[in-house]
Amino acid sequence: MIMKNCKIIILLGPPGSGKGTQAGLVSEKLNLYYIETSKIIEANVMKAKAKDFVKIGGKKYSLLQEKTFWKTGKLCTPEVVSFWVKKKIEELSKEGRGLVFAGSPRTLYEGKQIIPFLKKIYGTKNIKIFLLEVSPDETLFRNSQRRICDLFRHPILTNKETAGLTRCPLDGSKLIKRRGLDTVEVIKVRLKEYRERTYPLINYFKEQGLRVKKINGEKPVADVFDDILNKLKAKS
Ligand SMILES: [Zn+2]
Repeated sequence: MIMKNCKIIILLGPPGSGKGTQAGLVSEKLNLYYIETSKIIEANVMKAKAKDFVKIGGKKYSLLQEKTFWKTGKLCTPEVVSFWVKKKIEELSKEGRGLVFAGSPRTLYEGKQIIPFLKKIYGTKNIKIFLLEVSPDETLFRNSQRRICDLFRHPILTNKETAGLTRCPLDGSKLIKRRGLDTVEVIKVRLKEYRERTYPLINYFKEQGLRVKKINGEKPVADVFDDILNKLKAKS
């Protein structure tokens, strides 16, 4: 059974392209559930101890190893991430929820796991994909300035409008830097991982009959949001 009126929106883009911010806005506007892969990963690895593991298809994966990948800017093992994400999709689809993805799928492997799964549940026509394009220099700048809020870990995109903020606009908690995650070295690893492992997904989406619409991610948040909504309304 395909859920005809539920949308799936997938936002792609390099780290710092604002896809998390946009996913939050889109999910609120269209009443979609925002699947945050980074939060799913964080929740699963945060308290990992030496002997913790997850078993997938008879194979054991160390959670501590996943935690190390996560902390050093490397992508977590695709098998493990897909397993966690699919579990979440399954739960939500049973509740009849449409979904927004930002930062997932992030490897070809994850795409091949998740896209056919989504097509089966939601139908190809309901899957909309956007690529937020941001230059490498801008990406590096934004990431090195990046902050999150203390309470809910809302990501705060750094630009002219947000530079002076000290508290989260949504809940008023303090804005902090993510310890260890936003150093120049770690950011460079994340950008390289994006180029080499996430970008090839775009061809895969096309092969799957899914259009990838490009959006200029360097514009102010509100303008990017408008562009996404307008492109969603457009027929083609
Ligand atoms: Zn917040």
